[in-house]
Order: sequence, then structure tokens, then C-alpha cells
Amino acid sequence: MGKHNVNNFSDIEYIFLDRDGVLNRSLPSDRFITRWEEFELLPGVAGAIARLNRFGRKVIVVTNQRCVALGLCSETDLLALHERLQKELALQGAALDAIYYCPHDIGQCNCRKPLPGLFEQAFCDFPGANARNSVMVGDSLRDIEAGARLGMRTIFIDNAHNGGSRSPDADRAVAVASVVARSLPDCVQRYFPLEATD
Ligand SMILES: [Mg+2]
Ligand SMILES: [Zn+2]
Repeated sequence: MGKHNVNNFSDIEYIFLDRDGVLNRSLPSDRFITRWEEFELLPGVAGAIARLNRFGRKVIVVTNQRCVALGLCSETDLLALHERLQKELALQGAALDAIYYCPHDIGQCNCRKPLPGLFEQAFCDFPGANARNSVMVGDSLRDIEAGARLGMRTIFIDNAHNGGSRSPDADRAVAVASVVARSLPDCVQRYFPLEATD
């Protein structure tokens, strides 16, 4: 990837999003979110996704959910939570094109970010997607590292700006990421100023 286009996202067609801390509010001290009652969609997120949908961008979630391996919820619970999320988004005119999750514990697989497995699954399901036309948006260093290792551009959501809990590796993530945004809506507004072509 040439450095020349690192801050330009006009050619991005696939937008990979982390879940917790990007779509919904993270719980204090990184407690796991296993029930819909704990899932709080962040302000403006549905609108931002709807905007990307409207302009033909694919929106794909990639999320580490070690809570399954730890026995805090079942894979069925996780799927039900994601179904509920899609329903909530649909009410606001938004849709996620796919959700990929890693249910494994640390060191057990090739799909727990920053490893590339979830992205490889997505590149397989979306043959038009590749590292050059995709961006990774996340609020932790491992999101940014995952994208960067694959050669994707990356956008770090720095939750310090909106009163959320800031990841301890945030300074490193800021240094590695292509650019930084305050939230997903801020990210879409700044870097995806999409305009109707008709
Ligand atoms: Mg996160
Ligand atoms: Zn995994």
C-alpha cells in the first residue's frame, strides 16, 4: 500500500468494524457484554451505518468474543444478540452486511484479532474485497494491528474523546493507525463524505 493514499478513503469499498467500543458502549474494565440488556448502541452509530449502506459500501463487523470460550455465554446467545442488533439497526434503516466473530480463547486459533482469520473469512465470502479497498475501524491496538498486518488502512476510534474507557494501548494504536476519529459517526463524517452520484 502506498503511503500516498493513507489518509484518503474515497476508494474504500469495505468497512470493517470492531463491535464493542465502536458500535456499542464498552463495559467498565472490559467486562463482557453477553446480553441485549447490556448492549447500548452508541449515539449516531445507526445513522452512520445507514449512510455507508446508502452509498453502497459494505459494512462488516469483526469481533473477538472470548466470552464464549470462557463459558459466559453460548454461541447461540451470541448469535441471538447479533440478530437483535440487526433488528435494532433495521428499525433505523441500517444493516450490517456480515458479522464475523472469534469465540475462542487466547492462543487457540487463527481468528482472534490481531490474527487475520476473521478477515480471511470475509475476503472469502466477499470476493471483491481485499486489503487495498478495505479499512479497519477499531478502538483497540489489536484492531489496528490486525488491519495493519494485512496492509489495510486503519482508523482508530479514540474513546478518550467521548468519555468512554480508553484502551491502555491507545497511544500505540494512535501511532500505528492511518488516522484517528472520536466515534464511528465522526469517522464517517470526516473520512467518508459520500455524495449522491445521481
Ligand atoms: Mg473494541
Ligand atoms: Zn478464533
